[in-house]
Parts: sequence; C-alpha cells; structure tokens
Amino acid sequence: MTSAPERPLTAMIDPAAGPPDCAAYERNGGWQATRRALGRLTPAEVIDMVTRSKLRGRGGAGFGTGQKWGFVPKEPATERRKYLIANADEMEPGTFKDRWLLEGNPLQLIEGMILAGYAVQAGHGIIFLRGEYSLACERLHRAIGEARQQGWLGGNILGSGFGFDIHVHSSAGRYICGEETALLTALEGRRATPRSKPPFPQTGGLWGAPSVVNNVETLCNLPHIIANGPEWFAGLGLGEDGGTKIYGVSGRVAKPGAWELPIGTPLRQIIEEHAGGMRPGYRLRALLPGGASTAFLDAAALDVAMDYGSVEKAGSRLGTGMAIILDDRTCPIGMIRNLEHFFAQESCGWCTPCRDGLPWVERLLDAIEDGTGQEEDMDQLDRHALMLGAPGRTFCAHAPGAMAPLSSGLKLFAADFAAHIRQHRCPQQSGA
Ligand code: NAD
Repeated sequence: MTSAPERPLTAMIDPAAGPPDCAAYERNGGWQATRRALGRLTPAEVIDMVTRSKLRGRGGAGFGTGQKWGFVPKEPATERRKYLIANADEMEPGTFKDRWLLEGNPLQLIEGMILAGYAVQAGHGIIFLRGEYSLACERLHRAIGEARQQGWLGGNILGSGFGFDIHVHSSAGRYICGEETALLTALEGRRATPRSKPPFPQTGGLWGAPSVVNNVETLCNLPHIIANGPEWFAGLGLGEDGGTKIYGVSGRVAKPGAWELPIGTPLRQIIEEHAGGMRPGYRLRALLPGGASTAFLDAAALDVAMDYGSVEKAGSRLGTGMAIILDDRTCPIGMIRNLEHFFAQESCGWCTPCRDGLPWVERLLDAIEDGTGQEEDMDQLDRHALMLGAPGRTFCAHAPGAMAPLSSGLKLFAADFAAHIRQHRCPQQSGA
C-alpha cells in the first residue's frame, strides 16, 4: 500500500503467511489513513472524500456510502452515543467474499471501522459475524487485542480526542440477521425480525441510537480511499462506479473462486479468464450474477459490465457480485427449487405473505420437479412471483429477493416447466 496498489483490498493477503500483525500492516502502508484522517481531516472532509470516491455498498444493495453516512446526526461522539456496525453475517448462497477479507487481513477491516466511526462520530464499533466463521472470529479477536494494545483502539486515538473500540458479536445463525434492522434487533437480544424503515438505522438504530451498518468489503475500502485519495479510487472502476470489487464464480466452471478486479469488469472475462471457463462437457446455460437473490441472466448477457447500473439494465442486479452458474446438465427447476427451499426455511416468519407464501412456492416447485405438477400450478407460481416480488408487500427484502430467481426463471425456462408438467417427470438428469 506504500505506492497505490491496483488490487488494494487483497494486496496484503497471503494465505501462506497468515494475516499481517500491526507492524507488518504498517510496513505495507496500513494506519496511514488513520493518521491522516484523525490528524488532519474533519469528519465532514472524510465523508466528502468517500462520497467523491463513488464507493457504493458492497453488501448487495449498492447504496452510496458517503450518502448513507450523511444521514447521521452530526454531534461529536463525546456528546451522543452512536454505533458503527460491520455487517459480517455473510450468508447469501454462493457468496464468500467477506470471509476472504476477514480471515486474510482483519486489521484492514478494523482500520476501515475506525475511519467510518470517525466520519460519523460513532465511538462504538460492533462486528456482527456469521456464527460459522470461526477462523475469522479467532483472527479478529487477536487483531483487535493487538490494535488495542498499540493504541489504535481505545480512548483518544493518536491524541485526537476521538475514542473508538470494537466488540465482536458471533451470530446465532439466521440468514435474516444480515438484514440490517433484524441485525439490530438480534444485537438487542430479541428475536431477529426486521423493523419497518423509516426510521433508517442512521437516525434510529441500535437501542434507538444513530447507527450505521456497512458491509465488510465496503469498510475495507476506506483505508485505501483516505490514504490514496478519492480520485485514485474512482479511477480504478471501468465505468460509473469507483474502486475494485471482489467477484466470484461457483458452479461447474474449471476454477471456482473469488478475485479482486476493477468494478465494471465484463462478466465474460470473469468467467472465462478467471474461473477458467466451463468444465469439459458442460455448457453455460444461465447464471445468477450476484448471489441467490438476483434474477437469472441467460448466456447471451455475458458481455454485461459487472457494475450496478449495467447489470440492472440487463435485467438483474449486481448484488454481491458472486455469480452462480447454471449449466446445461442441471435442471433449472431443480435449481430454483433448491433456492426456494432455502428462502422458505430462512423466512423469519414475521409477516404472513413471506411466512406462508414461500413454503407454498416451494411445494409447487416440489410437485413440478417430482412429476405431479398441474397446469394451474403455473398460474399460482406467476401470482406468487408477482405478489411477493413487489416491494412493499412484505416487511423486508427477503421475499422480493427470493422471487428474483423465480420470476426470471419462469420466463427463461418456460419450456422446461411445460415439459415437466406434460411428461409428469423431470426430463433432465439433474446434477450429472
Ligand atoms: P436497501 O436498499 O433497503 O438498503 C440498503 C442500505 O441503504 C441500507 O443500509 C439502508 O439503511 C440504506 N438506505 C436505503 N434507502 C435509504 C433512505 N431512503 N434513507 C436512508 N438510508 C437508506 O437494501 P437492504 O434490504 O439493506 O439489502 C438488500 C440487499 O442485501 C440485496 O440487494 C441483497 O443482494 C443483499 N444481501 C446480501 C447478503 C450477504 O450475505 N452479503 C445476504 C442477503 C442479502
């Protein structure tokens, strides 16, 4: 990080050496941003730099990070209790990008949290960590302990008057906890159900206090933006958005994995160059570009640039940027059934359309895939896709997210659905 790297997020990650300690982190450019922000910049200047960097939230929704911070009341941390929360509850199927960052360089996240905390004047940091991420948990605790010992966390950091510390909360394990308001409810020790927005957490969050919830990858970008400047960061992107993005591919490709690349890299390049293309004997049929809660794109859309606007124009969402591939030897209805089974199981049960609608969708798909589906089941699926897919009919984005692969799949795989019903069986051997 001494001279601005092309792949800033992963530049210091070396699985053989393990995560850097404070000294190695500093030798490679770490803590520069904290010295700069706490020594020379006002909180408003930090927010302005992040806004100009064009950083958008990497959890999936892509909300402007600087804009989100701008909603937080401006009182200094010493005058008002506020929280900065890292959402590390990475449970989106097919998504494993944050784990790479958490295990590979926990100090980068800690520094990102200090900077975000300083920007919104929140003195309390919390990492809400997926329960299964035990290696990340161990490494985070070690890194936080060392940072505290060396004065990077605690009261009056670098004599700036700003104090910040971090607590790690390991989740009990529900997908809905990744939804920011359910996450807050879980932290308050209650059943993790989402809350209605507004109020947004920025004004009424944890125990009613102003709270910012940012994704791990979003926060990890901050030390680089502050150290190298917003123009440098914005220039890393190939299109409208700034920075790099961790992209991933799973499914029957030669080399499934994750790579940090300029945001806006074409999907074809990610799949063909980085994931090594399809495994011999398999053809790419369609894909979910950004995790399970994004709409299918068909093979003709491979030239789409993987940025927020371009993927939306192509009919889906960038989401987490971690693509899941459907190959020509896997039944699309079987794949959608698996996804809807997951979403039905993970509904928090709070609102009726989601609690009752998702298991109904699952039963309809079970019947079609098992050969007992009827023509009228297709009408029911269409109605569910329409009703549950529309925003505002359920408390949170869980059901609309669940409907994204179904609605798009009903259009893209209409002939497959019809063949299952006509032949009273799955015409395709699934998962050969
Ligand atoms: P959202 O669009 O409602 O909100 C995104 C962020 O912007 C939130 O922090 C919210 O507070 C803020 N925001 C939005 N509108 C605002 C406004 N008018 N004023 C102030 N702040 C505002 O989306 P969401 O429900 O938080 O997230 C849904 C996304 O999560 C999906 O896109 C999905 O891809 C993703 N997701 C990710 C994972 C994962 O493991 N990373 C898991 C499940 C879902």
